[in-house]
Amino acid sequence: MLTRRHLLIGSAALAALSALPALAQDKLKVLATFSILADFVRNVGGDRTEVAALVGSNNDAHVYAPAPADAKKVADAKVVITNGLGFEGWMTRLVQASGSKAMIIVATKGIAVRRAAGGHGDSDPHAWQSAANANVYVANIRDALTAADPAGADAYRAHAAAYLARLDALDAEVKQAVAAIPADRRRVISTHDAFGYFQQAYGIEFIAPQGVSTEAEPSARDVARIITQIKRQKIPAVFLENITDPRLMQRIAQETGARIGGKLFSDALTEEGGEAPSYIEMMRHNIKQISLALMS
Ligand code: ZN
Repeated sequence: MLTRRHLLIGSAALAALSALPALAQDKLKVLATFSILADFVRNVGGDRTEVAALVGSNNDAHVYAPAPADAKKVADAKVVITNGLGFEGWMTRLVQASGSKAMIIVATKGIAVRRAAGGHGDSDPHAWQSAANANVYVANIRDALTAADPAGADAYRAHAAAYLARLDALDAEVKQAVAAIPADRRRVISTHDAFGYFQQAYGIEFIAPQGVSTEAEPSARDVARIITQIKRQKIPAVFLENITDPRLMQRIAQETGARIGGKLFSDALTEEGGEAPSYIEMMRHNIKQISLALMS
């Protein structure tokens, strides 16, 4: 029997509940297409949001093939955050297949787009590789979360402001690290095609190995070409992660005197505890590897 006493207890309990942080089922469900975007969303959304990434840490969005379970993730999301600029070629079909009513956001809206990068069509999608661009992503994400959950406006504004301050500090830190590298040494050979915005923002030149496929393991003949190029263009360091044979790397180092750089992260974060578990740690890791390889 429902008595007046029960009702009073009920409303008191409700009042107490509303003062607590949102329950899991009340959180705004946000789906980001890959790990770097998910990190941005977590920083802005805080505990009002439940954030998932379609392409998780250590996974390559370029070769990603959506599974049936991913359509369900899209269908369940209230907000979907994408990079755009052709990065998620699989996304339109996935959204259609899911029947999702989610708000779909392009986080690069407003960014000055770089043209021409290998493998992605006309625009270079790797805009997050400059911390100044990351500010644009974060502002777009803040506005999207606010539109989807107006009651969280103050929280999203405060979280975004705090994170934007950290991004500004990161940007200054990278610029300072580059300034410490002699100007004539700010050049590397890299098989990554992901650092165009980094080059534009920070002035480290990423030179592709000539006549070498960036997809496959380079052959001994490719390595001979790379050696000629390093000598001719006087390049101080190489980041050639798809050469897995240490003897080939040793040969490059011995014959050219170029330094062999460590691993750079471009399109995905690592797991927690790895070298690049967050965007800020990824950028710090990369500039540290570049500085180590280029400081004379
Ligand atoms: Zn890429």
